[in-house]
Amino acid sequence: MMGPPGSGKGTQSARIAEHFRVPHLSTGALFRAALENDPESDVAKAAAVITNGGLVDDSVVMDVVAAVLTEYDCNVVLDGFPRTTHQADLFEHWLFSVGRQIDKVVFLHVPNDELVERLGARRTCKACGYIASLRLEDADTGIPCPRCGEDLYRREDDRPTAISRRLAIYESLTAPLLAKYIATGQLLSIDGTQSPDGVFKNICDSITNQI
Ligand code: AMP
Repeated sequence: MMGPPGSGKGTQSARIAEHFRVPHLSTGALFRAALENDPESDVAKAAAVITNGGLVDDSVVMDVVAAVLTEYDCNVVLDGFPRTTHQADLFEHWLFSVGRQIDKVVFLHVPNDELVERLGARRTCKACGYIASLRLEDADTGIPCPRCGEDLYRREDDRPTAISRRLAIYESLTAPLLAKYIATGQLLSIDGTQSPDGVFKNICDSITNQI
C-alpha cells in the first residue's frame, strides 16, 4: 500500500487485511511499538528518527520486514514499505531469493492541501491503534477512541514541522517509486479523496479484478 502520509494507507490496509483475512504489516506501527515497548532495542534506536519525520535506515527496515514476512506463508498487506527506491531494490532481491512476489501496488492519491488538513486533525488510539480522522475543531477536545473508548493521542510525527518534513521526504524519496510500479504494470491508482468506504470499495474492486 503506497501513498503520502495522511492518504489513508493505515486505515485501508487494516480493512483490506481484515476483509481478505491476511496479516497486515505496517512498518510504521512496528517501529512505534519498538519505541514504546523496547526502547533499548536496536530497532528502536534506528527508529528514533520517526519523531521528527525522518526515514528509518533502509537496511534496518528490510531486515525487520524480512524477519516478519518469513513467519508468514500467505499473502500479506504491506503498509508503508518499500518507501525508497533502495528499499524496493533490496526487497526485490529478497523476494527473488525466497521465491515470492509483489502482486499489486495500491497507490492512494490525495492532493497535498488535503493531506496537511487530514494530518493536523488525525489522532491515534494508544490502546487499539485505531486512526481517527477528526474535524480540526474536535481534534483537541479529548474525544475518546470511537472503537474502544480509550484515549486518543497525537502522534509526534503528526505535529506541524514533522508533517512538512514527511511530505517533502515522500515527494523526493517515495513518489519516484510510482514510475517503477507503473512500468511493471503492478500499480493500481485509487482516488483517496472519497469516503473511507468508497476508497475501500474501489480498492477491493480493483484488486479482485486484477489479481
Ligand atoms: P507510517 O505509520 O507509515 O506513517 O510511518 C511512520 C514513520 O515510520 C515514517 O514517517 C518513518 O519515519 C517510519 N517508517 C515507516 N515505514 C518506513 C519505511 N519503509 N522506511 C523508512 N521509514 C519508515
